[in-house]
Amino acid sequence: MLQIETIADLRAACDRARANGQRVGLVPTMGFLHEGHRSLMRAARESCAVVVVSLFVNPLQFGAGEDLDRYPRDLSGDLAQCEQEGVDAVFAPSVAEMYPSGRPVTTVHVDGLTAGLCGAARPTHFDGVATVVTKLFAVVGPCSAFFGRKDAQQLAVIARLVEDLNLPVDVVGCPIVREADGLALSSRNAYLAPDQRRAALVLSRALEAAAQAVVLGERDARVLVDIVRGLVSNEPEVALEYVEVRAAHELTPVDLLDGDVLLALAATVGSTRLIDNVVLSVRGAEVHADLGTGASRREGAGK
Ligand code: AMP
Repeated sequence: MLQIETIADLRAACDRARANGQRVGLVPTMGFLHEGHRSLMRAARESCAVVVVSLFVNPLQFGAGEDLDRYPRDLSGDLAQCEQEGVDAVFAPSVAEMYPSGRPVTTVHVDGLTAGLCGAARPTHFDGVATVVTKLFAVVGPCSAFFGRKDAQQLAVIARLVEDLNLPVDVVGCPIVREADGLALSSRNAYLAPDQRRAALVLSRALEAAAQAVVLGERDARVLVDIVRGLVSNEPEVALEYVEVRAAHELTPVDLLDGDVLLALAATVGSTRLIDNVVLSVRGAEVHADLGTGASRREGAGK
């Protein structure tokens, strides 16, 4: 496995792979890897001869007072996991390598899609994400890039920037990986004390309850929001930041469920901010609720 720290070396490795007729699969991460990240590596391996994982805690996507300084890091553990997954190259640059002149004056802003949901509480977050991902795409070149649906808004933002900027990247969304009890895997779960982790289960349970209501015929977005609010309010350790129903790709608000819709939430448990979601595909009476792996997948006929 190649360990790459410079932009020049990453560009050369990807150019070399393509010159050999090999498709490059990119998995961008902030490290402290878990099964969610590993599922992206496996998805990349299915369609790409060369798999590149980036490990970079991107300062640009953290707001003032967020957890940049204490974000968990474990480079040697991450390298071992990449090795186990048969990754071809790991790109772990320094902050100075990515941002040699400090804060870049050129940034990428995806309008509209970044205003609500997580963007409401984190107004600069998606500019930081869009900028670093655009930089990675510029260095890696034509590739497939794998992102988790766990970060559904991020996936929509990246898909849109690739479309708007005609970048030669095939963006692939991958299912949320959950613990057996439903908790969506996240590097930030490491912050949770045992009682907080138990309390956090209310989030996936609430999404599942709302999904169940849709399977049983509910189509009113407000009812789903109320189901989630009601269940989460029973858990005093968990403070809901938002719960919303949006069109899955455009992220426009939805009143009545039809087509692919996203039921997404963010909440804090103590000082730890968690996000989770379910995509509900509604085609007339047919419903498919995709909570991801490790959770039940439901198909059903509604009323
Ligand atoms: P992060 O390291 O948190 O920036 O995440 C890197 C990538 O892994 C993003 O595309 C995330 O959406 C994805 N990811 C994180 N957690 C999960 C999960 N539980 N299931 C699937 N993908 C995930």
